[in-house]
Amino acid sequence: MSGFDILINGGTFFGMNGGNEPNLASVAIKDGRISAFLPPDTDAEADFVYDASGLFVTPGFVDIHIHDEYFEDADTVQHCLIKQGITTAVAGNCGSGPAFDKALASRTNPWLHLSYLVGNCAGLREAVGHTDRYTPATAEEIEKMSAILRRYLDEGAMGLSLGLEYAPGASCDEINALAAVAAERENGIVTVHIRYDDDRCMSAVKEVINLSTRNDVRVQISHLGSMTMGHTRECEEIIKEAASAGADVSFDCYPYDAFCAKAGSAVYDDGFVRRWKGKGPEYLEAASGKYKGQRLTFETLAEMREKEPLELIVAHVMDQEEIENCVANPRCIIASDALFTGTGAHPRIAGTFPRAFGILRKRGYSWKDALRKATTMPADTMNLPAGRLFKGAVADIAVFSPKEFVDNATFQAPFLPPDGLGLVVINGKVALCDGELSRVPHGDLYKRPRKI
Ligand SMILES: [Zn+2]
Repeated sequence: MSGFDILINGGTFFGMNGGNEPNLASVAIKDGRISAFLPPDTDAEADFVYDASGLFVTPGFVDIHIHDEYFEDADTVQHCLIKQGITTAVAGNCGSGPAFDKALASRTNPWLHLSYLVGNCAGLREAVGHTDRYTPATAEEIEKMSAILRRYLDEGAMGLSLGLEYAPGASCDEINALAAVAAERENGIVTVHIRYDDDRCMSAVKEVINLSTRNDVRVQISHLGSMTMGHTRECEEIIKEAASAGADVSFDCYPYDAFCAKAGSAVYDDGFVRRWKGKGPEYLEAASGKYKGQRLTFETLAEMREKEPLELIVAHVMDQEEIENCVANPRCIIASDALFTGTGAHPRIAGTFPRAFGILRKRGYSWKDALRKATTMPADTMNLPAGRLFKGAVADIAVFSPKEFVDNATFQAPFLPPDGLGLVVINGKVALCDGELSRVPHGDLYKRPRKI
């Protein structure tokens, strides 16, 4: 027997199909898809054979929350994701850009599978000329925004993203009108960066639960742990209760105790010290720009906000144990919130998935259950054709050593790739082998409806 394109030989295979336990198998790939499962000691021939003995063979990870607004260098983000084993990602989160038509034009040949949400700030408010983030859109503007969203959804956008903290002026009328448009589509989804990151976070979570039930649309609360300092457990409980009462609401989290945002964003408006219970500028670290690597003062923060509003500031304000508890919540999806401004980044861009697995294993998770949070759960939430491996499926695969798969990225060196990832296959082609990236991209731009 011969003629496969790729043979991944003798690994511990996780198909993520229902309750299937992992088993020793070889995976044969042909023409972009999984062609056969063979015994671990098969002598089948292929153009490329990878010895996976002692390694895990799993669906490529699905990251439903990334940012690639910086057109001049989206490749850095995508490369960092592949080096974590991610093969499918969703951009346009937190209400941010790029506008969907620009994304379509510039992402025809991505390194991994990419899909886009339409952000209410970059894609809609800006598109209708509403540039003041602190004021509500008019009825006429809301109507225009709804029409643009409808068109983008027709053209293949996956759903709507709301950045409510970044657009404090977004009114109840505005977000409900837009959510209603998202709900017109089968499997419509709204992802939300909630309105408040202080003691009002519980009401901010309730606001989006109401948005879901009122408009009968799925809502995904983004990076919960970074928004709910000191109240994460309460917010998890609110979501759990709402879900058991029938609301279609879920959440994700990245496994770091610091968040980052652009210097000019509303997150760093006056009053943040009170919001974060006395944590002042000394908790803020410039991740790019003139003060890169330095903790800030009120003066340097003001200077960055005025002169370098697009540079990144990392806020070391969250609690590690609270974040780990959130990641370990059975409902929590792993998502990176990867972001690169051209000069600075947060280590979540390169370390999120192995770091989250480390936390989950430490908290007693089986590998099968830990992997669900990176494969089937995110794929099903965003209705993506990913996260499961079966005969005939698109061959998107990660092969890694369960013992050695560890994150290395730090706030000082945010791009350092993890150890222990052996092979990444995207669309049945080798995207990464033993640390070496393919020279050409192999991903697809995914559009609604799902194409499985
Ligand atoms: Zn966000």
